[in-house]
Amino acid sequence: MSEFYRAWSKRERILENSSSGGVFTELAELIIADHGVVVGACQDQSTYELKHIIVDRSEDLWKIQRSKYYQSEAFVTFKAVKELLEAGRKVLFSGTACQIAGLYAVLENVNTDQLITVDVLCHGVPSRKTFQEYVRCQERKYGRKIEEIHFRTKRIPWENGGGTSMELHFKGGEVEILRNNADEFLMAFNHNLILRESCYMCKFAGINRISDITLCDYWGIDRKTVPDIAMKRGVSLMLVNTDNGKEMGKRLMEKNILECAAVSPDDALPYNGPLIGPSKRNPKRDIYLQKRGTKEFNKLVREILCSEYRREKIKRGIGLDRIRKIKQILREI
Ligand SMILES: Cc1cc2nc3c(=O)[nH]c(=O)nc-3n(C[C@H](O)[C@H](O)[C@H](O)COP(=O)(O)OP(=O)(O)OC[C@H]3O[C@@H](n4cnc5c(N)ncnc54)[C@H](O)[C@@H]3O)c2cc1C
Ligand code: SF4
Repeated sequence: MSEFYRAWSKRERILENSSSGGVFTELAELIIADHGVVVGACQDQSTYELKHIIVDRSEDLWKIQRSKYYQSEAFVTFKAVKELLEAGRKVLFSGTACQIAGLYAVLENVNTDQLITVDVLCHGVPSRKTFQEYVRCQERKYGRKIEEIHFRTKRIPWENGGGTSMELHFKGGEVEILRNNADEFLMAFNHNLILRESCYMCKFAGINRISDITLCDYWGIDRKTVPDIAMKRGVSLMLVNTDNGKEMGKRLMEKNILECAAVSPDDALPYNGPLIGPSKRNPKRDIYLQKRGTKEFNKLVREILCSEYRREKIKRGIGLDRIRKIKQILREI
């Protein structure tokens, strides 16, 4: 059984540049200090190609920090990872659980003592094509080129939806914040309308993890147990799944770079769907597939998810704090 921890980096810069509590970067720094390499997803900001790359310097880690909510091509690094392990180098490979399964398949006859795998808990990925379609639609809407997209903004507190809201950066430094409960891509992603078909049957969802360490957001954390700064910047849930993972966890504790405490799986599981099972295919997905290409992405999503948009509007009217209080009371009854 995995060990469960709530954790966040003590370093402000790392917290700022990470999606959640920055545990990934702290692990990556340890591996680089051992002259190892780190593999993760890197987004090309002009084409929105998303591919895994290999990083061996601390100053390049920014390229693979932060979640990008669509499919990365991880297989392009598998051959190089194999060669690095055969040459005795330490490798930290990060990605979704299915990518890690793919890597293990390629490494069947290779000594993996020097390999650490970290999966980012994932409820599914849209295709790159879908994301590119969305970006083109946004550029038409704003009438100018988007320079950069950051999926997880920290300009809104993590606990108030900043956790999954997004930043569009335009030329000249202007930034538009898109809320998770309004933006069309995020609504379609969170409501399971645009995920790859295989994600709805994910073999890697659930409590039995394939990697050494699993990282995710600690949604549903009892806010009385952590300081305000963590609720603003992000709290990770870390699952330590293997002896290799335990060894890395021990080293992180020794370096005293994480705020970290063991938590009960019963407290964490109800809020993290992918630790329970695959995402449910939205019944409206068939309509989306039929109508795709007949009108632009944003219009189509708003039309198909009209009842979900209405619910979000009602929730905004009630207010997040009140909704939290009601949920808390219901839990206690
Ligand atoms: C597609 C996707 C869906 C997710 N869904 C959930 C969810 O439902 N619930 C939840 O609690 N957490 C989810 N996460 C994980 C969460 O967003 C954070 O990545 C995780 O908590 C680690 O945060 P961090 O601050 O430690 O590090 P960060 O620096 O934020 O994490 C970066 C790591 O994520 C990897 N990564 C980023 N994008 C991709 C990608 N497209 N494909 C493969 N690897 C990628 C990078 O290689 C790097 O290792 C998801 C992540 C992704 C990529
Ligand atoms: S949901 Fe499962 S199949 Fe889909 S990307 Fe995530 S790990 Fe892979």
